[in-house]
Amino acid sequence: MAAGPRVKKLLKRATKRAVGMAGGFVRHVGARILTYHSVGARVHDMNVTPVDFAAQIEWLAANARVISLREAADGCEGVAITFDDGYRDNLANAAPVLRALRLPATCFICTGRMGGVMVSGEDPAVGALMTWDEVRALAAAGIDIGAHTMTHPHLSQLGEEDQRREIAESARMIAEQLGCAPEAFAYPYGSLADYNAMSVRLVREAGYRYAVSNRYGVNPPSSDRWTLRRIWIDNTDTPDIFRAKVVGQLDALALLDSPLGIALRYGLNRALRIR
Ligand SMILES: [Zn+2]
Repeated sequence: MAAGPRVKKLLKRATKRAVGMAGGFVRHVGARILTYHSVGARVHDMNVTPVDFAAQIEWLAANARVISLREAADGCEGVAITFDDGYRDNLANAAPVLRALRLPATCFICTGRMGGVMVSGEDPAVGALMTWDEVRALAAAGIDIGAHTMTHPHLSQLGEEDQRREIAESARMIAEQLGCAPEAFAYPYGSLADYNAMSVRLVREAGYRYAVSNRYGVNPPSSDRWTLRRIWIDNTDTPDIFRAKVVGQLDALALLDSPLGIALRYGLNRALRIR
Protein backbone atom coordinates (compact mmCIF):
# COMPACT_ATOMS: atom_id res chain seq x y z
CA MET A 1 0.00 0.00 0.00
CA ALA A 2 1.35 3.47 -0.91
CA ALA A 3 2.20 5.95 1.85
CA GLY A 4 -0.89 8.15 1.31
CA PRO A 5 -3.54 5.46 1.82
CA ARG A 6 -1.57 3.98 4.73
CA VAL A 7 -1.36 7.35 6.49
CA LYS A 8 -5.06 7.92 5.80
CA LYS A 9 -5.93 4.53 7.27
CA LEU A 10 -3.95 5.27 10.43
CA LEU A 11 -5.52 8.72 10.72
CA LYS A 12 -9.02 7.27 10.32
CA ARG A 13 -8.43 4.79 13.12
CA ALA A 14 -6.87 7.45 15.36
CA THR A 15 -9.81 9.82 14.72
CA LYS A 16 -12.30 7.13 15.64
CA ARG A 17 -10.42 6.33 18.85
CA ALA A 18 -10.25 10.00 19.86
CA VAL A 19 -13.93 10.61 19.07
CA GLY A 20 -14.86 7.44 20.94
CA MET A 21 -13.09 8.61 24.08
CA ALA A 22 -14.68 12.05 23.89
CA GLY A 23 -18.09 10.82 22.80
CA GLY A 24 -18.70 8.13 25.39
CA PHE A 25 -21.11 10.40 27.23
CA VAL A 26 -23.24 11.67 24.35
CA ARG A 27 -25.25 8.72 23.12
CA HIS A 28 -28.58 9.37 21.47
CA VAL A 29 -31.56 7.09 21.08
CA GLY A 30 -32.88 6.25 17.66
CA ALA A 31 -32.13 4.14 14.63
CA ARG A 32 -28.58 3.53 13.49
CA ILE A 33 -28.43 2.48 9.84
CA LEU A 34 -25.22 0.74 8.80
CA THR A 35 -23.82 1.18 5.27
CA TYR A 36 -21.87 -1.66 3.71
CA HIS A 37 -20.54 -1.85 0.16
CA SER A 38 -18.64 -4.86 -1.16
CA VAL A 39 -18.29 -7.89 1.11
CA GLY A 40 -15.47 -9.70 -0.63
CA ALA A 41 -12.01 -9.29 -2.10
CA ARG A 42 -12.52 -5.88 -3.74
CA VAL A 43 -9.63 -3.57 -2.90
CA HIS A 44 -11.32 -0.42 -1.62
CA ASP A 45 -11.62 1.46 1.69
CA MET A 46 -15.29 0.63 1.86
CA ASN A 47 -14.81 -3.09 1.34
CA VAL A 48 -15.35 -5.43 4.29
CA THR A 49 -14.01 -8.99 4.21
CA PRO A 50 -16.51 -11.87 4.51
CA VAL A 51 -14.85 -12.92 7.79
CA ASP A 52 -15.20 -9.45 9.32
CA PHE A 53 -18.76 -9.13 8.01
CA ALA A 54 -19.86 -12.43 9.55
CA ALA A 55 -18.27 -11.49 12.89
CA GLN A 56 -19.99 -8.07 12.86
CA ILE A 57 -23.41 -9.47 11.97
CA GLU A 58 -23.17 -12.26 14.54
CA TRP A 59 -22.28 -9.67 17.18
CA LEU A 60 -25.27 -7.56 16.11
CA ALA A 61 -27.63 -10.54 16.29
CA ALA A 62 -26.51 -11.27 19.83
CA ASN A 63 -26.22 -7.72 21.16
CA ALA A 64 -28.45 -5.32 19.23
CA ARG A 65 -32.06 -4.99 18.14
CA VAL A 66 -31.79 -5.40 14.38
CA ILE A 67 -34.68 -3.70 12.56
CA SER A 68 -35.66 -3.26 8.92
CA LEU A 69 -34.94 0.01 7.14
CA ARG A 70 -38.70 0.62 6.99
CA GLU A 71 -38.88 0.38 10.80
CA ALA A 72 -35.92 2.77 11.05
CA ALA A 73 -37.75 5.24 8.78
CA ASP A 74 -40.87 4.84 10.93
CA GLY A 75 -38.93 5.98 14.01
CA CYS A 76 -38.16 2.66 15.71
CA GLU A 77 -35.03 2.28 17.77
CA GLY A 78 -32.50 -0.30 16.65
CA VAL A 79 -29.88 -1.07 14.04
CA ALA A 80 -30.69 -1.47 10.33
CA ILE A 81 -28.36 -3.01 7.74
CA THR A 82 -27.92 -1.61 4.21
CA PHE A 83 -25.64 -2.25 1.23
CA ASP A 84 -24.85 0.24 -1.54
CA ASP A 85 -24.20 -0.31 -5.26
CA GLY A 86 -25.28 -3.96 -5.60
CA TYR A 87 -22.06 -5.99 -5.59
CA ARG A 88 -22.36 -9.65 -6.60
CA ASP A 89 -20.51 -10.61 -3.41
CA ASN A 90 -23.49 -9.32 -1.40
CA LEU A 91 -25.43 -12.30 -2.75
CA ALA A 92 -22.58 -14.78 -2.31
CA ASN A 93 -21.10 -13.63 1.01
CA ALA A 94 -23.59 -11.43 2.89
CA ALA A 95 -27.04 -12.88 2.17
CA PRO A 96 -26.30 -16.36 3.61
CA VAL A 97 -25.10 -14.83 6.91
CA LEU A 98 -28.18 -12.60 7.18
CA ARG A 99 -30.51 -15.41 6.19
CA ALA A 100 -29.08 -17.84 8.76
CA LEU A 101 -29.73 -15.27 11.48
CA ARG A 102 -33.08 -14.15 9.97
CA LEU A 103 -32.00 -10.51 9.87
CA PRO A 104 -33.57 -7.92 7.54
CA ALA A 105 -31.45 -5.78 5.23
CA THR A 106 -31.80 -3.47 2.22
CA CYS A 107 -29.56 -3.46 -0.87
CA PHE A 108 -29.45 -0.31 -3.05
CA ILE A 109 -28.70 -1.04 -6.69
CA CYS A 110 -27.65 1.15 -9.62
CA THR A 111 -30.12 -0.05 -12.21
CA GLY A 112 -28.12 1.12 -15.23
CA ARG A 113 -24.99 -0.72 -14.14
CA MET A 114 -26.28 -4.19 -13.32
CA GLY A 115 -24.04 -6.96 -14.66
CA GLY A 116 -21.12 -4.51 -15.03
CA VAL A 117 -18.69 -2.85 -12.61
CA MET A 118 -18.83 0.40 -10.62
CA VAL A 119 -15.55 1.86 -11.87
CA SER A 120 -14.60 1.33 -15.52
CA GLY A 121 -11.57 -0.92 -15.90
CA GLU A 122 -12.22 -2.60 -12.57
CA ASP A 123 -11.59 -6.37 -12.38
CA PRO A 124 -15.02 -8.02 -12.57
CA ALA A 125 -13.64 -11.03 -10.68
CA VAL A 126 -13.77 -8.94 -7.49
CA GLY A 127 -15.84 -5.86 -8.39
CA ALA A 128 -18.77 -7.27 -10.37
CA LEU A 129 -22.25 -5.93 -9.80
CA MET A 130 -25.18 -8.34 -9.76
CA THR A 131 -27.12 -9.23 -12.88
CA TRP A 132 -30.91 -8.88 -12.70
CA ASP A 133 -31.19 -12.66 -12.14
CA GLU A 134 -28.87 -12.26 -9.15
CA VAL A 135 -30.88 -9.30 -7.85
CA ARG A 136 -33.99 -11.48 -8.00
CA ALA A 137 -32.11 -14.21 -6.10
CA LEU A 138 -31.11 -11.65 -3.46
CA ALA A 139 -34.73 -10.51 -3.14
CA ALA A 140 -35.83 -14.15 -2.86
CA ALA A 141 -33.29 -14.56 -0.03
CA GLY A 142 -35.23 -11.90 1.89
CA ILE A 143 -33.18 -8.78 1.15
CA ASP A 144 -35.22 -5.70 0.28
CA ILE A 145 -34.12 -4.01 -2.96
CA GLY A 146 -33.88 -0.21 -3.02
CA ALA A 147 -32.84 2.20 -5.78
CA HIS A 148 -29.51 4.03 -6.03
CA THR A 149 -30.19 5.84 -9.35
CA MET A 150 -29.31 4.56 -12.84
CA THR A 151 -25.66 5.61 -13.16
CA HIS A 152 -24.52 6.81 -9.70
CA PRO A 153 -24.14 10.53 -10.49
CA HIS A 154 -23.63 13.42 -8.10
CA LEU A 155 -27.30 14.41 -8.27
CA SER A 156 -26.62 17.95 -7.07
CA GLN A 157 -24.64 18.58 -10.27
CA LEU A 158 -27.57 17.67 -12.53
CA GLY A 159 -30.52 19.74 -13.72
CA GLU A 160 -34.09 18.79 -12.93
CA GLU A 161 -34.77 16.58 -15.98
CA ASP A 162 -31.58 14.54 -15.52
CA GLN A 163 -32.17 14.16 -11.79
CA ARG A 164 -35.77 13.04 -12.41
CA ARG A 165 -34.64 10.46 -14.97
CA GLU A 166 -32.00 9.00 -12.59
CA ILE A 167 -34.44 8.87 -9.66
CA ALA A 168 -37.69 7.82 -11.34
CA GLU A 169 -36.26 5.51 -14.01
CA SER A 170 -34.39 3.42 -11.43
CA ALA A 171 -37.68 2.85 -9.56
CA ARG A 172 -39.43 1.94 -12.80
CA MET A 173 -36.73 -0.60 -13.76
CA ILE A 174 -36.84 -2.29 -10.36
CA ALA A 175 -40.64 -2.51 -10.55
CA GLU A 176 -40.38 -3.97 -14.04
CA GLN A 177 -37.68 -6.52 -13.11
CA LEU A 178 -38.90 -7.54 -9.64
CA GLY A 179 -42.63 -7.03 -9.93
CA CYS A 180 -42.94 -4.44 -7.18
CA ALA A 181 -41.84 -0.84 -6.82
CA PRO A 182 -38.98 -0.06 -4.42
CA GLU A 183 -39.78 1.73 -1.15
CA ALA A 184 -36.25 2.95 -0.43
CA PHE A 185 -33.84 5.27 -2.21
CA ALA A 186 -30.18 6.03 -1.44
CA TYR A 187 -28.53 9.24 -2.71
CA PRO A 188 -25.24 8.33 -4.50
CA TYR A 189 -22.17 9.41 -2.47
CA GLY A 190 -24.72 10.82 -0.05
CA SER A 191 -22.91 13.72 1.63
CA LEU A 192 -24.51 17.17 1.90
CA ALA A 193 -22.65 18.21 -1.25
CA ASP A 194 -24.00 15.32 -3.34
CA TYR A 195 -27.76 15.90 -3.29
CA ASN A 196 -29.97 18.96 -2.88
CA ALA A 197 -33.53 20.00 -2.10
CA MET A 198 -34.55 19.22 -5.69
CA SER A 199 -33.25 15.65 -5.31
CA VAL A 200 -35.33 15.17 -2.15
CA ARG A 201 -38.47 16.55 -3.83
CA LEU A 202 -38.01 14.32 -6.89
CA VAL A 203 -37.49 11.24 -4.68
CA ARG A 204 -40.80 12.00 -2.94
CA GLU A 205 -42.56 12.58 -6.26
CA ALA A 206 -41.22 9.29 -7.69
CA GLY A 207 -43.21 7.30 -5.14
CA TYR A 208 -40.52 6.14 -2.73
CA ARG A 209 -41.44 6.00 0.97
CA TYR A 210 -38.11 6.98 2.54
CA ALA A 211 -34.52 7.75 1.58
CA VAL A 212 -31.05 7.52 3.08
CA SER A 213 -28.00 9.75 2.79
CA ASN A 214 -24.46 8.90 3.84
CA ARG A 215 -24.30 11.68 6.39
CA TYR A 216 -22.98 10.07 9.54
CA GLY A 217 -25.18 9.74 12.56
CA VAL A 218 -28.12 8.36 14.52
CA ASN A 219 -31.78 8.99 13.57
CA PRO A 220 -33.93 10.07 16.53
CA PRO A 221 -37.66 9.19 16.11
CA SER A 222 -38.45 12.68 14.77
CA SER A 223 -35.89 12.45 11.93
CA ASP A 224 -36.72 13.46 8.36
CA ARG A 225 -37.49 10.17 6.58
CA TRP A 226 -36.24 11.58 3.26
CA THR A 227 -32.67 12.24 4.41
CA LEU A 228 -31.95 9.56 7.00
CA ARG A 229 -28.41 9.43 8.26
CA ARG A 230 -26.26 6.33 8.11
CA ILE A 231 -23.12 4.94 9.70
CA TRP A 232 -20.48 3.78 7.25
CA ILE A 233 -18.65 0.57 7.97
CA ASP A 234 -15.22 0.22 6.38
CA ASN A 235 -12.04 -1.80 6.42
CA THR A 236 -10.46 0.30 9.19
CA ASP A 237 -13.14 -0.73 11.68
CA THR A 238 -11.67 -3.02 14.30
CA PRO A 239 -14.20 -5.03 16.38
CA ASP A 240 -13.97 -2.33 19.08
CA ILE A 241 -14.64 0.48 16.60
CA PHE A 242 -17.56 -1.43 15.07
CA ARG A 243 -19.19 -1.90 18.46
CA ALA A 244 -18.54 1.75 19.37
CA LYS A 245 -20.32 2.83 16.16
CA VAL A 246 -23.30 0.57 16.87
CA VAL A 247 -23.80 1.67 20.48
CA GLY A 248 -23.38 5.35 19.61
CA GLN A 249 -19.98 6.05 21.12
CA LEU A 250 -18.87 7.43 17.75
CA ASP A 251 -21.98 9.55 17.06
CA ALA A 252 -19.75 12.62 17.20
CA LEU A 253 -18.25 11.53 13.84
CA ALA A 254 -21.31 13.38 12.48
CA LEU A 255 -19.12 16.47 12.80
CA LEU A 256 -17.20 15.16 9.78
CA ASP A 257 -20.32 15.84 7.70
CA SER A 258 -20.53 19.50 8.66
CA PRO A 259 -19.25 21.96 6.02
CA LEU A 260 -16.10 22.44 8.14
CA GLY A 261 -15.57 18.68 8.47
CA ILE A 262 -15.98 18.17 4.71
CA ALA A 263 -13.46 20.95 4.00
CA LEU A 264 -11.00 19.39 6.45
CA ARG A 265 -11.36 15.96 4.85
CA TYR A 266 -10.85 17.34 1.33
CA GLY A 267 -7.79 19.26 2.58
CA LEU A 268 -6.39 16.11 4.17
CA ASN A 269 -6.97 14.04 1.05
CA ARG A 270 -5.28 16.71 -1.09
CA ALA A 271 -2.32 16.77 1.28
CA LEU A 272 -2.05 12.98 0.96
CA ARG A 273 -2.70 13.21 -2.82
CA ILE A 274 -5.67 10.84 -2.70
CA ARG A 275 -9.30 11.33 -3.46
ZN1 LIG B 1 -23.03 4.15 -4.11
